[in-house]
Amino acid sequence: MANKSIHLMGAGLVGSLWAYLLKKKGFDVHVYEKRADPRGTQADRGRSINLVITSRGRHALKQAGLDEAILPITVPVFGRRIHAIDGRTQYQAYGRDDSECNYAVSRWELNTTLIKAAAHAGVTFYFEHELSDLDLAARTVRFSNGNTANYRVLFATDGAGSAIRKKMQAIQPRLYQEDVRFISSDYKELYVPARADGQPAIEKNNLHIWPRGTHMLMALANQDNSFTLTLYLPRSDHPWSFDSIQTPARVQELFQSEFPDARALVPDLSTQFLEHPQGRLGTVRFTQWHYQDSVALMGDAAHAIVPFFGQGMNCGFEDITTLLTILDENQWDFKSGLEAYSRLRIPNAQAIADMALENFVEMSDKVGDQTFLLQKKIESVLEKEFPQLYRSRYGMITYTLIPYSLAQEAGRIQNRLLTTLSQTITRIEDLNLAHCQRAMEQEWLPWLKAKGICLDRYR
Ligand SMILES: Cc1cc2nc3c(=O)[nH]c(=O)nc-3n(C[C@H](O)[C@H](O)[C@H](O)COP(=O)(O)OP(=O)(O)OC[C@H]3O[C@@H](n4cnc5c(N)ncnc54)[C@H](O)[C@@H]3O)c2cc1C
Repeated sequence: MANKSIHLMGAGLVGSLWAYLLKKKGFDVHVYEKRADPRGTQADRGRSINLVITSRGRHALKQAGLDEAILPITVPVFGRRIHAIDGRTQYQAYGRDDSECNYAVSRWELNTTLIKAAAHAGVTFYFEHELSDLDLAARTVRFSNGNTANYRVLFATDGAGSAIRKKMQAIQPRLYQEDVRFISSDYKELYVPARADGQPAIEKNNLHIWPRGTHMLMALANQDNSFTLTLYLPRSDHPWSFDSIQTPARVQELFQSEFPDARALVPDLSTQFLEHPQGRLGTVRFTQWHYQDSVALMGDAAHAIVPFFGQGMNCGFEDITTLLTILDENQWDFKSGLEAYSRLRIPNAQAIADMALENFVEMSDKVGDQTFLLQKKIESVLEKEFPQLYRSRYGMITYTLIPYSLAQEAGRIQNRLLTTLSQTITRIEDLNLAHCQRAMEQEWLPWLKAKGICLDRYR
């Protein structure tokens, strides 16, 4: 570690946490960020995004020693509450018990807290510094405000539209291949205030979902008992698409028809809908995440994914813990370390990208399907009755550190198992545990043993 300076581009969630950890490791850390300093400002309504932190995110926060600082700004979420069109709701717990939960947090608040912690630890931030050019051979960056900087090692934490990724692709298009695909649905956020008596308008510790096939509404609580609703609709070519809803009357019609019980939650519904920005959702895949011993992509810059598994940031935080372990093991030799990081992380990022796309179908459509619901009930019995032998794919991704690629493989085997078991019964009361055990012995248990997987939850 002769030269101890490290540069980062992007002070988002991944950049600010990675900067903090690098500083703790003794580096002289410089972070450039195109936005203005968020400290001392407020999140824009309609642009807040609340996120869930799960095991992988918590693991990174714990490694940084920041878990205790972050947990108080979160709201625990114990399960999903599905809202049918007739107003009836059905609750599905996430974990085996209430100790397994997700933590909802405002992206803006989390980001600001991480920036404050990093600045306090001694990281130097340069806000309003937008990267405009990069010379990979000369190791120099140029900003749109005219400033320049030289680097020895540069981490690209500049998000889904990463300018650094694009530069890598431009210089060696055969080695660095980018695949960016947007889905046909966009999203918009709506704000639900707390009730007049200060209480939450709906159950606070649930993720609320109004699944309607091609479109869906979701709600997550904020700490002050307000909620952020996220509405996912096709961009166009659908009776309920963003393009087709451009007037207050059409907004009311959408909610009256599709989400009648949610309509009353948003007092200024039409105004919010028509004024709030519409965001796009997509997947970014990139064939190599490092350039020699000098540049590595992390977080959304390397692997933006759709939000339907709640894993974008969690996966980015896992990039951090993986890279940290690798570099520690390699005595901070960046050449071998960055190579190993790229090799290890890409298959896992591919796996969670695929599963996040699949989960859109599960959340928007299948959560209302009877066969799917029976299979979920069977899965819940298996998790409770055979805690050492069975854990759902959701549980593996959310409550353990089992690599995403293995969780994906597990999910395929579980689908076959649950299909077999659900074909023999119509009511969960008829499930026979001895039969379940025999069915698991066919494929599931041999696979688990062969992979040497421990299903205990991350604590
Ligand atoms: C609706 C929605 C819901 C989501 N829910 C979840 C969830 O529940 N759980 C979860 O884990 N993830 C979730 N995500 C994903 C999560 O928001 C992202 O994965 C996460 O923000 C990525 O962090 P990052 O630091 O890599 O990128 P970003 O947060 O995008 O940060 C990149 C930073 O780089 C800066 N930057 C960009 N270009 C430049 C430049 N040229 N020069 C200088 N600076 C630059 C940006 O201003 C920004 O500050 C969700 C996403 C969406 C859209």
